[in-house]
Amino acid sequence: MTKVKYIFVTGGVTSSLGKGIIAASLAKLLQARGYRVTIQKFDPYINVDPGTLNPYEHGECYVTEDGAETDLDLGHYERFLNVHTSQSNNVTTGRVYQTVIQNERKGEYLGKTVQVIPHITDEIKRRMLILGESGDYDIVITEIGGTVGDIESLPYVESMRQLIWELGESNSAVVHLTLVPYLRAAGELKTKPTQHSVKSLSELGIHPDVLVCRTEQPIGAEIKRKLALFCNVQLNSVIEAIDLSTIYEVPMAMLKEKLDKVVLTKLKLKAATEPDLKQWSEFLFRLEHPKSEVRIVLVGKYVELPDAYKSINEAFIHAGASNECDVKVDYIHSEYLNEENATAKLQGYAGILVAPGFGPRGIDGKLHAVRFARENNIPFFGICLGMQSCVIEFARNVVGLSDAHSSEMSENTKNPVIDLMEEQKKITNYGGTMRLGSYDCELEKGSKAAKAYGKTKIKERHRHRYEFNDVFKEQVQTAGMRITGTNPRTGLAEIVEIESHPWFVGVQFHPELKSTVENPHPLFVAFVNAALKTNQ
Ligand code: GLN
Repeated sequence: MTKVKYIFVTGGVTSSLGKGIIAASLAKLLQARGYRVTIQKFDPYINVDPGTLNPYEHGECYVTEDGAETDLDLGHYERFLNVHTSQSNNVTTGRVYQTVIQNERKGEYLGKTVQVIPHITDEIKRRMLILGESGDYDIVITEIGGTVGDIESLPYVESMRQLIWELGESNSAVVHLTLVPYLRAAGELKTKPTQHSVKSLSELGIHPDVLVCRTEQPIGAEIKRKLALFCNVQLNSVIEAIDLSTIYEVPMAMLKEKLDKVVLTKLKLKAATEPDLKQWSEFLFRLEHPKSEVRIVLVGKYVELPDAYKSINEAFIHAGASNECDVKVDYIHSEYLNEENATAKLQGYAGILVAPGFGPRGIDGKLHAVRFARENNIPFFGICLGMQSCVIEFARNVVGLSDAHSSEMSENTKNPVIDLMEEQKKITNYGGTMRLGSYDCELEKGSKAAKAYGKTKIKERHRHRYEFNDVFKEQVQTAGMRITGTNPRTGLAEIVEIESHPWFVGVQFHPELKSTVENPHPLFVAFVNAALKTNQ
């Protein structure tokens, strides 16, 4: 077996430089050259996972096949690489400490004083190596969250330093992402922040092999030389990462800058063949040459922060390219949508999506959006709470159960059309206790869902506690809302549709999590297609 190679990606100067995208782009290039690559992210916060974080804090919580609630960067990894990630791909300080403390309680440290070094760093190193030991990958990319110099990321940087030493020459590479700001008043690009961040990294015992420089302006040969000289890296290892109009251009830009070649050389791996990026380029071409435009509105309550709906936005980009159209997504805050303004705010859109969410805030606005779409034959897509909303709205306004609700929103409703399952009622902890991860679903032949997927057996990812209540299924179905997707093991309703409507589909799962560049999600593709048709 060939030795697994490790690439570490660190960030300097400031956060939000796009380490996740750079890591995913590098991974894509290496994958396109035939290497089996995965990416993992180490986050320095103390939450055990981001599952309990408010979306305003940290954007969307991305769920993997095996039900891990993870950082949204894992979504980028999957969308770029088209391979699944898992619980092992996202580690937080909380999880590391949880393991160490559990070990301590079991007496595994044999009476020793438990310390950051070596116990926390050993646990971090163990986790850094897990994916590499699976035998499934040639290259493991590890993204270290936060910015070099932060107190909380110190144990990660120290673990990295030790591991680089233990792995030995040419088995690891360090890519440092940094900012080269442009000072408009001076008309100059500045290298000093990068020099400082490389210095901080050096003080911690790590010397970067490659500098990826985020910049608004092209970095000329002179600045590259200066960065190389003062940061002590080879000239060809200073990579320009200029702002681009879409994240999907980044792999191509990195290819031009030869980021993959520089890294492969450092790892002493062959770069004999050119990367096969045919599918990626075709996608990019369609993305950048749309033949039409379609306007869709997303109704949700976290709309102030588009990162809260990251995967949905990306799924629209994939589905738009696949339909050769530009999907323009507007956001409407469900809290401010009511009976009086619903028509004015929603008319003119070719499709309405009601987004996932938790808690009663904004639920009424979601119900108005569903009603508007249903009554006006506008293509409608409800995801998770969006699906639950369409069951509630239908039960109220079509079946005639005027107080129908979800027991999440109204604990004492007489008609809890959406309710907790028995096993959920016993749970008192919030973290990691929802219905999470991949579940089988069987589709009804001839349904809109079955047509979209082109098959009747699917698997989709879940993240919710509440379900369509069995007691009301018959009444709702008789009134014209069909259950077209069912969990074969539990009988739970996973998809509802209104047959007489041009395209009205609600799904209990999160299809957006499985949409990738190479496999746009069939339901998003079908929804955009239906919206395009109403457009004409
Ligand atoms: N709040 C709902 C539930 O827990 C829906 C969750 C979601 O939209 N992800 O069932």
